[in-house]
Amino acid sequence: MPNPTPVSAAALLSRLKAEFGPDFFSQETSELLEYGKDWTKEIPPNPLVITFPRTTGEVSQLLQICSELKCAVVPSGGRTGLAGGAVAAHQEVVLSLERMNHLSAVDPLSRTLRAQAGAVTEAVHLHCQAQGLIWPVDFASKGSSTIGGNIATNAGGVNVIRYGLTRHWVLGLQVVLASGKILELNGALEKNNTGIDLRQLFIGSEGILGVITEATLKLAPVSRPSEVFLFAAESLESVLQVFEHCRRSHFTLNAFEFFTQRCLERVKKNLNLRSPFTEESNFYVLIDLEKPGDGAGATELEAWLEALLGLSGVKDGTMAQNSHEARNLWMLREGISESLSSTGTPHKNDVSLPISQLSGFCFELEAFFQAQYPDWEICLFGHIGDGNLHINVMKPETLSREDFKVRTALVDRDLFTLVRKHQGSISAEHGIGLLKKNFLSFSRSPLEIELFRSLKKALDPGNILNPGKIFDL
Ligand SMILES: Cc1cc2nc3c(=O)[nH]c(=O)nc-3n(C[C@H](O)[C@H](O)[C@H](O)COP(=O)(O)OP(=O)(O)OC[C@H]3O[C@@H](n4cnc5c(N)ncnc54)[C@H](O)[C@@H]3O)c2cc1C
Repeated sequence: MPNPTPVSAAALLSRLKAEFGPDFFSQETSELLEYGKDWTKEIPPNPLVITFPRTTGEVSQLLQICSELKCAVVPSGGRTGLAGGAVAAHQEVVLSLERMNHLSAVDPLSRTLRAQAGAVTEAVHLHCQAQGLIWPVDFASKGSSTIGGNIATNAGGVNVIRYGLTRHWVLGLQVVLASGKILELNGALEKNNTGIDLRQLFIGSEGILGVITEATLKLAPVSRPSEVFLFAAESLESVLQVFEHCRRSHFTLNAFEFFTQRCLERVKKNLNLRSPFTEESNFYVLIDLEKPGDGAGATELEAWLEALLGLSGVKDGTMAQNSHEARNLWMLREGISESLSSTGTPHKNDVSLPISQLSGFCFELEAFFQAQYPDWEICLFGHIGDGNLHINVMKPETLSREDFKVRTALVDRDLFTLVRKHQGSISAEHGIGLLKKNFLSFSRSPLEIELFRSLKKALDPGNILNPGKIFDL
Protein backbone atom coordinates (compact mmCIF):
# COMPACT_ATOMS: atom_id res chain seq x y z
CA MET A 1 0.00 0.00 0.00
CA PRO A 2 1.43 3.45 -0.88
CA ASN A 3 1.97 6.10 1.80
CA PRO A 4 -1.19 8.05 2.67
CA THR A 5 -1.64 11.15 0.54
CA PRO A 6 -1.35 14.47 2.40
CA VAL A 7 -5.12 14.78 1.90
CA SER A 8 -5.96 11.43 3.52
CA ALA A 9 -3.44 12.06 6.33
CA ALA A 10 -5.04 15.44 7.07
CA ALA A 11 -8.54 13.92 6.82
CA LEU A 12 -7.54 11.15 9.22
CA LEU A 13 -6.14 13.54 11.82
CA SER A 14 -9.23 15.71 11.72
CA ARG A 15 -11.50 12.61 12.09
CA LEU A 16 -9.41 11.44 15.08
CA LYS A 17 -9.76 14.86 16.70
CA ALA A 18 -13.47 15.00 16.04
CA GLU A 19 -14.47 11.44 16.97
CA PHE A 20 -12.24 10.50 19.93
CA GLY A 21 -11.13 12.06 23.21
CA PRO A 22 -8.19 14.50 23.28
CA ASP A 23 -5.67 11.94 24.52
CA PHE A 24 -6.59 9.30 21.93
CA PHE A 25 -3.59 9.96 19.68
CA SER A 26 -0.13 11.49 19.73
CA GLN A 27 2.24 12.98 17.20
CA GLU A 28 4.96 13.84 19.73
CA THR A 29 8.34 13.13 18.10
CA SER A 30 9.55 10.99 21.01
CA GLU A 31 6.41 8.82 20.83
CA LEU A 32 6.57 8.51 17.04
CA LEU A 33 10.13 7.24 17.40
CA GLU A 34 9.36 4.92 20.30
CA TYR A 35 6.13 3.36 19.01
CA GLY A 36 7.29 3.19 15.39
CA LYS A 37 10.03 0.63 16.06
CA ASP A 38 10.46 -2.77 17.65
CA TRP A 39 13.44 -4.60 19.15
CA THR A 40 15.07 -5.05 15.75
CA LYS A 41 15.91 -1.32 15.73
CA GLU A 42 17.14 -1.85 12.15
CA ILE A 43 14.53 0.11 10.26
CA PRO A 44 14.14 3.83 10.98
CA PRO A 45 10.63 4.50 12.34
CA ASN A 46 8.39 6.94 10.51
CA PRO A 47 4.75 6.60 11.60
CA LEU A 48 2.11 9.25 10.96
CA VAL A 49 0.41 9.02 14.34
CA ILE A 50 0.18 6.78 17.40
CA THR A 51 -3.31 5.88 18.63
CA PHE A 52 -4.28 4.51 22.05
CA PRO A 53 -7.78 2.99 22.03
CA ARG A 54 -9.27 1.91 25.36
CA THR A 55 -12.03 -0.38 24.12
CA THR A 56 -12.81 -2.83 21.35
CA GLY A 57 -15.44 -0.35 20.18
CA GLU A 58 -12.75 2.30 19.70
CA VAL A 59 -10.53 -0.15 17.79
CA SER A 60 -13.49 -0.93 15.53
CA GLN A 61 -14.28 2.73 14.93
CA LEU A 62 -10.63 3.51 14.19
CA LEU A 63 -10.33 0.67 11.66
CA GLN A 64 -13.52 1.76 9.92
CA ILE A 65 -12.07 5.25 9.48
CA CYS A 66 -8.70 3.90 8.29
CA SER A 67 -10.44 1.60 5.79
CA GLU A 68 -12.51 4.47 4.49
CA LEU A 69 -9.48 6.76 4.11
CA LYS A 70 -7.14 3.97 2.99
CA CYS A 71 -4.63 4.53 5.79
CA ALA A 72 -2.31 1.68 6.75
CA VAL A 73 -2.44 0.47 10.37
CA VAL A 74 0.30 -1.27 12.36
CA PRO A 75 -0.96 -3.18 15.43
CA SER A 76 1.49 -2.69 18.25
CA GLY A 77 2.01 -4.69 21.46
CA GLY A 78 5.16 -4.53 23.56
CA ARG A 79 7.31 -4.14 20.40
CA THR A 80 9.70 -6.86 21.57
CA GLY A 81 9.44 -8.63 18.20
CA LEU A 82 12.65 -9.42 16.38
CA ALA A 83 11.34 -9.52 12.80
CA GLY A 84 10.20 -5.92 12.30
CA GLY A 85 6.51 -6.91 12.43
CA ALA A 86 5.52 -3.92 14.56
CA VAL A 87 7.71 -1.42 12.70
CA ALA A 88 5.93 1.58 11.16
CA ALA A 89 8.28 3.10 8.59
CA HIS A 90 5.86 4.47 5.99
CA GLN A 91 3.54 6.95 7.67
CA GLU A 92 1.26 4.27 9.09
CA VAL A 93 -1.19 4.68 11.96
CA VAL A 94 0.22 2.77 14.91
CA LEU A 95 -2.56 1.09 16.90
CA SER A 96 -1.12 0.58 20.37
CA LEU A 97 -3.08 -1.84 22.54
CA GLU A 98 -1.29 -0.74 25.73
CA ARG A 99 -4.34 0.82 27.37
CA MET A 100 -6.35 -2.36 26.80
CA ASN A 101 -4.70 -4.35 29.58
CA HIS A 102 -7.59 -5.50 31.75
CA LEU A 103 -7.52 -9.01 33.20
CA SER A 104 -10.68 -10.73 34.41
CA ALA A 105 -10.74 -12.76 37.60
CA VAL A 106 -9.27 -16.24 37.09
CA ASP A 107 -11.94 -18.93 36.78
CA PRO A 108 -10.40 -21.81 38.76
CA LEU A 109 -13.06 -24.32 37.68
CA SER A 110 -12.59 -23.93 33.95
CA ARG A 111 -8.98 -22.80 34.42
CA THR A 112 -9.40 -19.82 32.16
CA LEU A 113 -8.78 -16.10 32.15
CA ARG A 114 -10.11 -13.40 29.83
CA ALA A 115 -7.38 -10.91 28.98
CA GLN A 116 -7.35 -7.77 26.90
CA ALA A 117 -4.66 -7.86 24.22
CA GLY A 118 -2.47 -5.16 25.74
CA ALA A 119 -1.94 -7.02 29.03
CA VAL A 120 1.75 -7.67 29.64
CA THR A 121 2.69 -11.36 29.61
CA GLU A 122 4.34 -11.23 33.02
CA ALA A 123 1.31 -9.47 34.52
CA VAL A 124 -0.78 -12.44 33.39
CA HIS A 125 1.66 -14.83 35.05
CA LEU A 126 1.49 -12.93 38.35
CA HIS A 127 -2.29 -12.66 38.15
CA CYS A 128 -2.72 -16.45 37.84
CA GLN A 129 -0.08 -17.45 40.35
CA ALA A 130 -2.27 -16.65 43.34
CA GLN A 131 -4.71 -19.32 42.15
CA GLY A 132 -1.95 -21.91 41.71
CA LEU A 133 -2.24 -21.63 37.93
CA ILE A 134 0.04 -20.54 35.08
CA TRP A 135 -0.24 -19.39 31.49
CA PRO A 136 2.75 -21.40 30.33
CA VAL A 137 4.09 -19.06 27.62
CA ASP A 138 7.34 -17.83 29.10
CA PHE A 139 10.46 -16.13 27.78
CA ALA A 140 13.00 -13.42 28.53
CA SER A 141 10.94 -10.51 27.12
CA LYS A 142 7.81 -11.33 29.15
CA GLY A 143 8.17 -8.12 31.18
CA SER A 144 7.37 -6.06 28.06
CA SER A 145 5.64 -8.36 25.55
CA THR A 146 1.85 -8.48 25.47
CA ILE A 147 -0.80 -11.15 25.14
CA GLY A 148 -1.86 -9.73 21.75
CA GLY A 149 1.73 -9.83 20.48
CA ASN A 150 2.26 -13.33 21.87
CA ILE A 151 -0.82 -14.56 20.04
CA ALA A 152 -0.05 -12.66 16.83
CA THR A 153 3.41 -14.28 16.75
CA ASN A 154 2.35 -17.66 18.17
CA ALA A 155 5.18 -17.18 20.64
CA GLY A 156 7.25 -20.05 21.96
CA GLY A 157 9.86 -19.75 24.67
CA VAL A 158 11.60 -21.86 27.23
CA ASN A 159 8.68 -24.14 28.08
CA VAL A 160 7.67 -25.27 24.60
CA ILE A 161 9.20 -28.67 25.14
CA ARG A 162 6.66 -29.28 27.89
CA TYR A 163 3.67 -27.15 26.98
CA GLY A 164 3.86 -26.38 23.25
CA LEU A 165 3.39 -22.99 21.58
CA THR A 166 0.96 -20.16 22.39
CA ARG A 167 -1.68 -21.62 20.09
CA HIS A 168 -2.23 -24.47 22.57
CA TRP A 169 -3.10 -21.98 25.32
CA VAL A 170 -5.72 -19.80 23.64
CA LEU A 171 -9.32 -20.95 23.81
CA GLY A 172 -11.16 -17.92 22.48
CA LEU A 173 -10.34 -14.76 20.57
CA GLN A 174 -11.97 -11.44 19.91
CA VAL A 175 -10.67 -9.93 16.68
CA VAL A 176 -11.52 -6.70 14.87
CA LEU A 177 -11.33 -6.98 11.10
CA ALA A 178 -10.07 -4.21 8.80
CA SER A 179 -13.70 -3.30 8.08
CA GLY A 180 -14.24 -2.64 11.80
CA LYS A 181 -16.44 -5.74 12.20
CA ILE A 182 -15.91 -7.59 15.46
CA LEU A 183 -15.44 -11.37 15.45
CA GLU A 184 -15.92 -13.53 18.57
CA LEU A 185 -14.21 -16.87 18.02
CA ASN A 186 -14.70 -20.05 20.01
CA GLY A 187 -15.64 -18.46 23.36
CA ALA A 188 -14.16 -20.58 26.12
CA LEU A 189 -14.74 -23.90 24.39
CA GLU A 190 -12.19 -26.67 24.66
CA LYS A 191 -14.08 -28.72 22.08
CA ASN A 192 -15.85 -27.22 19.09
CA ASN A 193 -16.18 -29.35 16.02
CA THR A 194 -18.26 -27.08 13.85
CA GLY A 195 -16.09 -26.50 10.83
CA ILE A 196 -12.97 -24.45 10.22
CA ASP A 197 -11.29 -23.18 13.40
CA LEU A 198 -10.96 -19.50 12.43
CA ARG A 199 -9.28 -18.70 15.73
CA GLN A 200 -6.16 -20.56 14.61
CA LEU A 201 -6.01 -18.44 11.45
CA PHE A 202 -5.31 -15.33 13.51
CA ILE A 203 -2.79 -17.00 15.82
CA GLY A 204 0.62 -16.34 14.26
CA SER A 205 -0.76 -14.00 11.58
CA GLU A 206 1.43 -11.04 12.72
CA GLY A 207 -1.34 -8.47 12.58
CA ILE A 208 -2.04 -8.79 8.85
CA LEU A 209 -5.52 -10.36 9.09
CA GLY A 210 -7.11 -8.61 12.07
CA VAL A 211 -6.44 -6.85 15.36
CA ILE A 212 -6.69 -9.13 18.40
CA THR A 213 -8.45 -7.24 21.18
CA GLU A 214 -9.23 -9.95 23.77
CA ALA A 215 -8.45 -13.59 24.41
CA THR A 216 -9.68 -16.35 26.66
CA LEU A 217 -6.50 -17.96 27.88
CA LYS A 218 -6.25 -21.54 29.00
CA LEU A 219 -4.30 -22.07 32.22
CA ALA A 220 -2.37 -25.01 33.65
CA PRO A 221 -1.63 -25.94 37.24
CA VAL A 222 1.65 -24.54 38.52
CA SER A 223 4.19 -27.26 38.00
CA ARG A 224 5.95 -28.83 40.94
CA PRO A 225 9.25 -27.21 41.97
CA SER A 226 12.00 -27.99 39.53
CA GLU A 227 15.60 -29.10 39.61
CA VAL A 228 17.95 -27.05 37.48
CA PHE A 229 21.21 -28.45 36.09
CA LEU A 230 23.99 -27.11 33.93
CA PHE A 231 26.28 -29.47 32.06
CA ALA A 232 29.44 -28.76 30.11
CA ALA A 233 29.53 -30.72 26.87
CA GLU A 234 32.32 -31.28 24.38
CA SER A 235 30.39 -31.20 21.13
CA LEU A 236 26.92 -30.81 19.72
CA GLU A 237 26.73 -34.59 19.46
CA SER A 238 27.27 -34.74 23.23
CA VAL A 239 24.47 -32.18 23.71
CA LEU A 240 22.15 -34.41 21.68
CA GLN A 241 23.31 -37.45 23.62
CA VAL A 242 22.29 -35.68 26.83
CA PHE A 243 18.94 -34.88 25.24
CA GLU A 244 18.40 -38.53 24.37
CA HIS A 245 19.31 -39.48 27.93
CA CYS A 246 16.63 -37.04 29.19
CA ARG A 247 14.04 -38.29 26.73
CA ARG A 248 14.60 -41.88 27.80
CA SER A 249 13.98 -41.05 31.45
CA HIS A 250 10.47 -40.56 32.72
CA PHE A 251 11.22 -37.21 34.37
CA THR A 252 9.14 -34.32 33.10
CA LEU A 253 11.34 -31.87 31.19
CA ASN A 254 10.41 -28.19 31.58
CA ALA A 255 13.24 -26.94 29.43
CA PHE A 256 16.28 -28.20 27.54
CA GLU A 257 18.43 -25.26 26.45
CA PHE A 258 21.95 -24.95 25.14
CA PHE A 259 24.57 -22.29 24.50
CA THR A 260 28.19 -22.03 23.49
CA GLN A 261 31.29 -20.76 25.27
CA ARG A 262 31.14 -17.57 23.21
CA CYS A 263 27.66 -16.80 24.52
CA LEU A 264 28.82 -17.49 28.07
CA GLU A 265 31.76 -15.11 27.68
CA ARG A 266 29.45 -12.26 26.64
CA VAL A 267 26.95 -12.95 29.45
CA LYS A 268 29.74 -13.02 32.05
CA LYS A 269 31.06 -9.72 30.75
CA ASN A 270 27.71 -7.99 30.50
CA LEU A 271 25.95 -9.27 33.63
CA ASN A 272 29.00 -9.77 35.78
CA LEU A 273 28.17 -13.43 36.35
CA ARG A 274 30.51 -16.35 36.94
CA SER A 275 30.61 -19.74 35.30
CA PRO A 276 30.08 -22.56 37.81
CA PHE A 277 32.85 -24.53 36.06
CA THR A 278 36.59 -24.04 36.40
CA GLU A 279 37.30 -25.22 32.87
CA GLU A 280 35.79 -23.88 29.68
CA SER A 281 33.80 -26.10 27.37
CA ASN A 282 32.51 -25.75 23.81
CA PHE A 283 28.85 -26.22 24.74
CA TYR A 284 26.63 -25.95 27.80
CA VAL A 285 23.27 -27.59 28.42
CA LEU A 286 20.73 -26.22 30.86
CA ILE A 287 18.11 -28.71 32.00
CA ASP A 288 15.07 -27.82 34.04
CA LEU A 289 12.98 -30.78 35.10
CA GLU A 290 10.15 -31.33 37.52
CA LYS A 291 11.44 -32.46 40.89
CA PRO A 292 10.54 -36.09 41.45
CA GLY A 293 8.90 -36.92 44.79
CA ASP A 294 11.09 -37.93 47.72
CA GLY A 295 12.20 -41.54 48.29
CA ALA A 296 12.24 -43.62 45.10
CA GLY A 297 12.08 -40.54 42.87
CA ALA A 298 15.11 -38.94 44.49
CA THR A 299 17.11 -42.17 44.24
CA GLU A 300 16.17 -42.52 40.59
CA LEU A 301 17.27 -38.96 39.92
CA GLU A 302 20.63 -39.66 41.49
CA ALA A 303 21.15 -42.73 39.33
CA TRP A 304 20.06 -40.81 36.23
CA LEU A 305 22.47 -38.02 37.03
CA GLU A 306 25.34 -40.39 37.58
CA ALA A 307 24.70 -42.08 34.24
CA LEU A 308 24.51 -38.68 32.55
CA LEU A 309 27.83 -37.56 33.98
CA GLY A 310 29.29 -40.83 32.71
CA LEU A 311 28.43 -40.01 29.08
CA SER A 312 31.67 -39.65 27.12
CA GLY A 313 31.14 -36.06 25.92
CA VAL A 314 29.92 -34.66 29.25
CA LYS A 315 32.83 -32.91 30.94
CA ASP A 316 31.25 -31.46 34.04
CA GLY A 317 27.90 -30.76 35.65
CA THR A 318 26.26 -28.90 38.48
CA MET A 319 22.87 -28.97 40.13
CA ALA A 320 21.35 -25.85 41.71
CA GLN A 321 21.06 -26.34 45.49
CA ASN A 322 18.47 -23.63 46.03
CA SER A 323 16.27 -21.21 44.12
CA HIS A 324 18.94 -18.53 44.11
CA GLU A 325 21.43 -20.86 42.42
CA ALA A 326 18.72 -22.03 40.02
CA ARG A 327 18.02 -18.43 39.06
CA ASN A 328 21.73 -17.80 38.49
CA LEU A 329 22.03 -20.82 36.20
CA TRP A 330 18.96 -19.65 34.28
CA MET A 331 20.46 -16.15 33.99
CA LEU A 332 23.41 -17.61 32.08
CA ARG A 333 20.93 -18.70 29.42
CA GLU A 334 18.25 -16.00 29.62
CA GLY A 335 20.78 -13.18 29.69
CA ILE A 336 22.31 -14.14 26.33
CA SER A 337 20.08 -12.17 23.96
CA GLU A 338 20.45 -8.96 25.95
CA SER A 339 24.19 -9.51 26.48
CA LEU A 340 24.93 -9.99 22.78
CA SER A 341 23.22 -6.67 22.03
CA SER A 342 24.91 -4.86 24.94
CA THR A 343 28.41 -6.07 24.13
CA GLY A 344 28.31 -5.93 20.33
CA THR A 345 26.15 -5.86 17.23
CA PRO A 346 24.55 -9.20 16.57
CA HIS A 347 22.82 -10.22 13.36
CA LYS A 348 20.15 -12.57 14.69
CA ASN A 349 18.56 -15.59 13.13
CA ASP A 350 16.11 -17.96 14.71
CA VAL A 351 15.64 -21.18 12.82
CA SER A 352 14.28 -24.62 13.60
CA LEU A 353 15.19 -28.07 12.39
CA PRO A 354 13.76 -31.51 12.85
CA ILE A 355 15.68 -32.93 15.84
CA SER A 356 17.01 -35.71 13.63
CA GLN A 357 18.67 -33.11 11.35
CA LEU A 358 20.24 -30.93 14.04
CA SER A 359 23.61 -32.56 14.16
CA GLY A 360 24.09 -32.65 10.36
CA PHE A 361 22.87 -29.08 10.05
CA CYS A 362 25.23 -27.75 12.72
CA PHE A 363 28.14 -29.64 11.21
CA GLU A 364 27.55 -28.01 7.81
CA LEU A 365 26.89 -24.65 9.42
CA GLU A 366 30.23 -24.70 11.18
CA ALA A 367 32.00 -25.82 8.00
CA PHE A 368 30.31 -22.99 6.09
CA PHE A 369 31.43 -20.27 8.51
CA GLN A 370 34.92 -21.78 8.79
CA ALA A 371 35.33 -21.71 5.03
CA GLN A 372 33.69 -18.38 4.23
CA TYR A 373 34.01 -16.24 7.36
CA PRO A 374 36.75 -17.76 9.53
CA ASP A 375 37.24 -14.57 11.56
CA TRP A 376 33.61 -14.00 12.44
CA GLU A 377 32.28 -14.72 15.89
CA ILE A 378 29.20 -16.96 15.78
CA CYS A 379 27.12 -17.24 18.96
CA LEU A 380 24.84 -20.24 18.96
CA PHE A 381 22.16 -20.91 21.56
CA GLY A 382 18.53 -21.86 21.83
CA HIS A 383 15.71 -24.15 22.86
CA ILE A 384 17.46 -27.13 21.36
CA GLY A 385 14.96 -29.61 22.79
CA ASP A 386 12.48 -28.16 20.29
CA GLY A 387 15.00 -28.13 17.43
CA ASN A 388 15.24 -24.35 17.80
CA LEU A 389 18.60 -22.63 17.18
CA HIS A 390 19.38 -18.95 17.59
CA ILE A 391 22.27 -18.23 15.24
CA ASN A 392 23.90 -14.88 16.02
CA VAL A 393 26.64 -13.47 13.85
CA MET A 394 28.53 -10.72 15.67
CA LYS A 395 29.72 -7.70 13.69
CA PRO A 396 33.54 -7.68 13.46
CA GLU A 397 34.91 -4.36 14.72
CA THR A 398 36.71 -3.82 11.42
CA LEU A 399 33.46 -3.79 9.42
CA SER A 400 31.15 -0.79 9.21
CA ARG A 401 27.46 -1.35 10.05
CA GLU A 402 26.55 -0.84 6.38
CA ASP A 403 29.09 -3.40 5.14
CA PHE A 404 27.99 -5.82 7.86
CA LYS A 405 24.37 -5.49 6.72
CA VAL A 406 25.31 -6.23 3.12
CA ARG A 407 27.45 -9.22 4.10
CA THR A 408 24.88 -10.72 6.47
CA ALA A 409 22.18 -10.49 3.79
CA LEU A 410 24.37 -12.79 1.69
CA VAL A 411 25.03 -15.04 4.69
CA ASP A 412 21.28 -15.33 5.30
CA ARG A 413 20.70 -16.65 1.81
CA ASP A 414 23.31 -19.40 2.31
CA LEU A 415 22.06 -20.11 5.81
CA PHE A 416 18.44 -20.46 4.70
CA THR A 417 19.51 -22.66 1.79
CA LEU A 418 21.06 -24.95 4.39
CA VAL A 419 17.90 -24.78 6.51
CA ARG A 420 15.80 -25.76 3.51
CA LYS A 421 18.17 -28.62 2.69
CA HIS A 422 17.60 -30.00 6.19
CA GLN A 423 13.80 -29.52 6.04
CA GLY A 424 13.82 -26.76 8.65
CA SER A 425 12.01 -23.47 9.09
CA ILE A 426 13.65 -20.06 8.60
CA SER A 427 11.66 -18.67 11.53
CA ALA A 428 11.07 -20.75 14.64
CA GLU A 429 9.50 -18.14 16.86
CA HIS A 430 9.65 -14.53 15.86
CA GLY A 431 7.65 -14.58 12.66
CA ILE A 432 8.54 -13.25 9.23
CA GLY A 433 7.68 -9.56 9.61
CA LEU A 434 9.77 -7.37 7.35
CA LEU A 435 13.17 -8.88 7.93
CA LYS A 436 12.54 -12.33 6.53
CA LYS A 437 9.88 -11.73 3.94
CA ASN A 438 12.29 -12.03 1.01
CA PHE A 439 13.07 -15.54 2.20
CA LEU A 440 9.54 -16.79 2.86
CA SER A 441 9.77 -19.15 -0.12
CA PHE A 442 12.62 -21.01 1.62
CA SER A 443 10.06 -22.45 4.05
CA ARG A 444 6.71 -22.12 2.25
CA SER A 445 5.69 -23.48 -1.16
CA PRO A 446 4.36 -21.22 -3.98
CA LEU A 447 0.92 -22.72 -3.43
CA GLU A 448 0.98 -21.89 0.28
CA ILE A 449 2.03 -18.30 -0.45
CA GLU A 450 -0.76 -17.98 -3.01
CA LEU A 451 -3.23 -19.15 -0.34
CA PHE A 452 -1.80 -16.58 2.11
CA ARG A 453 -2.54 -13.87 -0.47
CA SER A 454 -6.10 -15.11 -1.05
CA LEU A 455 -6.80 -15.10 2.69
CA LYS A 456 -5.37 -11.62 3.08
CA LYS A 457 -7.50 -10.29 0.21
CA ALA A 458 -10.63 -11.91 1.64
CA LEU A 459 -10.17 -10.50 5.15
CA ASP A 460 -8.52 -7.17 4.35
CA PRO A 461 -9.47 -6.22 0.78
CA GLY A 462 -8.05 -2.69 1.15
CA ASN A 463 -4.70 -4.06 2.44
CA ILE A 464 -4.65 -1.64 5.37
CA LEU A 465 -3.55 -4.06 8.10
CA ASN A 466 0.22 -4.25 8.53
CA PRO A 467 0.77 -4.04 4.75
CA GLY A 468 4.08 -5.34 3.45
CA LYS A 469 4.64 -7.65 6.43
CA ILE A 470 5.23 -11.40 5.80
CA PHE A 471 4.62 -10.99 2.01
CA ASP A 472 3.68 -8.37 -0.55
CA LEU A 473 0.32 -8.60 -2.25
C1 LIG B 1 15.14 -10.76 24.83
C2 LIG B 1 14.06 -11.34 23.95
C3 LIG B 1 13.77 -12.70 24.05
C4 LIG B 1 12.76 -13.26 23.27
N1 LIG B 1 12.50 -14.58 23.39
C5 LIG B 1 11.51 -15.12 22.66
C6 LIG B 1 11.22 -16.51 22.77
O1 LIG B 1 11.88 -17.25 23.49
N2 LIG B 1 10.20 -16.99 22.04
C7 LIG B 1 9.45 -16.20 21.20
O2 LIG B 1 8.49 -16.68 20.58
N3 LIG B 1 9.73 -14.90 21.07
C8 LIG B 1 10.73 -14.34 21.76
N4 LIG B 1 11.00 -13.01 21.62
C9 LIG B 1 10.26 -12.21 20.63
C10 LIG B 1 9.02 -11.47 21.15
O3 LIG B 1 9.15 -11.17 22.53
C11 LIG B 1 7.75 -12.28 20.89
O4 LIG B 1 7.56 -12.44 19.50
C12 LIG B 1 6.49 -11.66 21.51
O5 LIG B 1 5.43 -12.57 21.39
C13 LIG B 1 6.10 -10.33 20.87
O6 LIG B 1 5.10 -9.71 21.67
P1 LIG B 1 4.91 -8.12 21.62
O7 LIG B 1 3.72 -7.76 22.42
O8 LIG B 1 6.16 -7.45 21.96
O9 LIG B 1 4.55 -7.94 20.06
P2 LIG B 1 5.07 -6.82 19.08
O10 LIG B 1 6.54 -6.91 18.88
O11 LIG B 1 4.50 -5.51 19.45
O12 LIG B 1 4.34 -7.30 17.73
C14 LIG B 1 4.71 -8.52 17.11
C15 LIG B 1 3.78 -8.72 15.89
O13 LIG B 1 2.45 -8.93 16.34
C16 LIG B 1 1.57 -7.91 15.83
N5 LIG B 1 0.65 -7.58 16.92
C17 LIG B 1 0.95 -7.12 18.16
N6 LIG B 1 -0.17 -6.99 18.89
C18 LIG B 1 -1.21 -7.38 18.08
C19 LIG B 1 -2.61 -7.47 18.26
N7 LIG B 1 -3.19 -7.15 19.41
N8 LIG B 1 -3.37 -7.90 17.22
C20 LIG B 1 -2.79 -8.24 16.03
N9 LIG B 1 -1.47 -8.18 15.82
C21 LIG B 1 -0.69 -7.76 16.83
C22 LIG B 1 2.49 -6.77 15.42
O14 LIG B 1 1.92 -6.00 14.38
C23 LIG B 1 3.72 -7.52 14.96
O15 LIG B 1 3.57 -7.99 13.64
C24 LIG B 1 12.03 -12.44 22.36
C25 LIG B 1 12.32 -11.07 22.27
C26 LIG B 1 13.33 -10.54 23.04
C27 LIG B 1 13.60 -9.06 22.92
